[in-house]
Amino acid sequence: MPFTFDNSYARLPDAFFALTNPTPVNAPELIALNRHLAADLGIQLTQLDSAEGLSIVAGNQLPEGSKPLAMAYAGHQFGGFSPQLGDGRALLLGEVIGKNGSRYDIQLKGSGQTPFSRRGDGRSALGPVLREYIVSEAMAALGVPTTRALAAVWSGDQVLREGYEPGGIFTRVARSHIRVGTFQYFAARQDQESVRILADYVIDRLYPAARKTDNPHLALLECVIQGQAELVAQWMQLGFIHGVMNTDNMAVSAETIDYGPCAFMDHYDPTKKFSYIDQQGRYAYHNQPAMAHWNLTRLAETLLPLLADCDDNAFANAKTALDRFSEIYQRELVNGFTSKIGIENADENDWKLVQSLLTIMTSDGADFTLTFRHLRNAAENCEQSQLLALFKTPEAISGWLKAWLTRLKKEKDGPEKATHLMRKINPVFIPRNHRIEELIQAALKHNFEPFHQLHQVLQHPFAEQTEFVDYEAPPTPGQEVQATFCGT
Ligand code: AMP
Ligand code: MG
Repeated sequence: MPFTFDNSYARLPDAFFALTNPTPVNAPELIALNRHLAADLGIQLTQLDSAEGLSIVAGNQLPEGSKPLAMAYAGHQFGGFSPQLGDGRALLLGEVIGKNGSRYDIQLKGSGQTPFSRRGDGRSALGPVLREYIVSEAMAALGVPTTRALAAVWSGDQVLREGYEPGGIFTRVARSHIRVGTFQYFAARQDQESVRILADYVIDRLYPAARKTDNPHLALLECVIQGQAELVAQWMQLGFIHGVMNTDNMAVSAETIDYGPCAFMDHYDPTKKFSYIDQQGRYAYHNQPAMAHWNLTRLAETLLPLLADCDDNAFANAKTALDRFSEIYQRELVNGFTSKIGIENADENDWKLVQSLLTIMTSDGADFTLTFRHLRNAAENCEQSQLLALFKTPEAISGWLKAWLTRLKKEKDGPEKATHLMRKINPVFIPRNHRIEELIQAALKHNFEPFHQLHQVLQHPFAEQTEFVDYEAPPTPGQEVQATFCGT
């Protein structure tokens, strides 16, 4: 018995889910198993890392204690509301209690049709499975709250997308898969009782401290707002673009979830978007905080009847909570970006210094990750050539460097402390899009070496790994990926 399940979601009322079994696949092969994560989750590794374990993560065999279910949810997709989406190609196998005492969902993605599949086949193509594995594990190593990857499987079956492609099955781990859209599902049906049950469940599971306040449901809203404001500020500091921030893709646990057409940007461009379906740039890099706030407003609307005894007070409570988003986000963003240039306890002028750097990076098309990575060398050992090479007009950045180095001298422990701070916060390695594309192309031909290699490098994103220096590099013009696809 690899998992010791305790399935609290399955104990909620029937309207919350549809009990569904996975559909077996023909000839599954294990591509990756996350042994570290399995150990943290208290999973019996020898049993998971076996023929029986493969059958489980392929959806061919149900583990003991599992009560597989597809969760019901709704969602605003690119601003338009769908009252019923739900897990159309995913199943919650069950919940385990990790070694840290927290509860985690174990979910299969790509395991076959469910009552929520609509016209979909319930399957995943291999490419998106490997992208989600790589990017979510990279995010975890970068210190960003995220769902995790437990396993990736080659299904042995083909799925029809643009043409036929190999299929894959992904095992995902989350503190919970409850989304803003889960609340919207019941609110849209005017089922206030279910909204209350869901809110109480989320409080008990994710935010138990909210229970001890005078207004637990308001405290729940405040917790989600805080978590999301901090999360999006972290994305921004890493140049991460989620790509499809629909309300059904925003977890109330404030973990990054649903890595569809996501990507890290190479050269800095605040208007950058990758997703092919996001033609208007709704979820472009610079719109992400506003979109998170928009989604949280949708969450607040579902909770209104729980927030106070009368409408006016409920509305005022929601507004006060939502107004705090910008404050928290801005504080995190300023702290984060000033730390990226080595400044602790920053003031307004330091934030202006960051902004002028970003302006130069934009006009000069400088690589986002490498700029901060090489700034460190400039402070550490006055080595500026690698940094200057990232800019089209080195004069502009030279002037900025002078001002910055003068500012660093005023820091309490000078440049030494600054470089220490910068080392901790500025990654050397990110999952660059062209590398992901490359590993997917290899995997489609059943070569998983590039996948394992990139995954290994990204386990230690802040460390210089001289043998992998190639993985630092941005794409050459020929390698640049112009658009990403959900691949669903
Ligand atoms: P996503 O774009 O992955 O956030 O999914 C949006 C909605 O479409 C969710 O309800 C998914 O379950 C559903 N969906 C996506 N792909 C498939 C598929 N291949 N088969 C069935 N449902 C799907
Ligand atoms: Mg989704």
